[in-house]
Amino acid sequence: MKILVPVKRVVDYNVKVRVKSDGTGVETAGVKMSMNPFDEIAVEEAVRLKEKGIATEVVAVSLGRAACAETIRTALAIGADRGILVETDVALQPLAVAGLLKALVDREQPLLVILGKQAIDDDMGATGPMLAALLGWPQGTFASKLMVAGATITVTREVDGGMETVALPLPAVITADLRLNEPRYASLPNIMRARKKPIETIRPADLGVDPTPRLTVLKVVEPPRRQAGKKVGSVAELVMKLRTEAKVI
Ligand code: AMP
Repeated sequence: MKILVPVKRVVDYNVKVRVKSDGTGVETAGVKMSMNPFDEIAVEEAVRLKEKGIATEVVAVSLGRAACAETIRTALAIGADRGILVETDVALQPLAVAGLLKALVDREQPLLVILGKQAIDDDMGATGPMLAALLGWPQGTFASKLMVAGATITVTREVDGGMETVALPLPAVITADLRLNEPRYASLPNIMRARKKPIETIRPADLGVDPTPRLTVLKVVEPPRRQAGKKVGSVAELVMKLRTEAKVI
């Protein structure tokens, strides 16, 4: 079974994000970029399925600028076998990504696509479900446990107030949640080995997909700053302030 894992290059989760002064988006120049954390979990899960002898090949794919090749290299260092870079300077929105991934699925014929449940930059959480809809495949979203038996995958999903377990016929689309696994650190030998693994570069036109955005971002603003707190001198003063000044926000 071949598994396709889409991996997105995003601003590293440790970076304090700054909005560009013209309000058109988030500053990415000179900022540390990394693989979207949920995608690392997706790669780890695919590699574990390969180590268990369930998967035969793990293909990591990233869509975006040439630098996305670095994100693919990280996936290769975790254990993916090869990479595909769909290179474009167009700012990709989820429907465009899902359309490109569908074309890749048609070409590569994987039995499983494991995405992150959401990318931490735009918080869309849309690409996995859109891909499943375009393919007409079942989807197991917010997965915290996967079990493959024959032509069925059982997915434990994190839902409000508990866990839901669903069985899906393969092929299927899965989106990885935080508790699915703890991704390994890529060892130095594996990082070296990853340099020799192949990455194919193609363009959206090669897949016959037009990635032009359909939504226009009107403006991006920082959240309002929190006001500084006040120190009170006594419990009596605290109680008085709570009674007279505190407001429910
Ligand atoms: P989103 O719908 O943007 O929150 O993204 C959900 C998931 O779709 C991510 O965790 C990735 O697995 C995948 N994805 C979204 N955009 C890209 C991209 N440009 N390249 C590769 N994978 C992507």
